[in-house]
Amino acid sequence: MHELGLCDALLKKVDGLVRENELEGVNSVTIEIGTLSGVIPRFMEDCWEAVIDDSPYSGTKLIVVSVPGKARCADCGAEFIVDLEDMVCPDCGEKHLIPIEGNGMTITEIEAY
Ligand SMILES: [Zn+2]
Repeated sequence: MHELGLCDALLKKVDGLVRENELEGVNSVTIEIGTLSGVIPRFMEDCWEAVIDDSPYSGTKLIVVSVPGKARCADCGAEFIVDLEDMVCPDCGEKHLIPIEGNGMTITEIEAY
């Protein structure tokens, strides 16, 4: 599952930051997921629980914030909010869209102690 791999990578990143900054633990991790990334926030939360189980981060909360995807039309240059189910330019009706925002995952906050 796509989300499981992402959670695994996320945990490694968090672990790296904790070691680097000599922290003791993490209360919560906040991530932003773009609607164009195809990642399902609910699956992320479930997979997170699975990867932190039996790890030093068991109990760390994952907060997922969904951000709207933005794309540019390759034909007329219009920029607009889109979602994966409706990838059509509202201005000219073409489907040659280039994702410019909301097609990835970003860590926005780590609450550590
Ligand atoms: Zn267009």
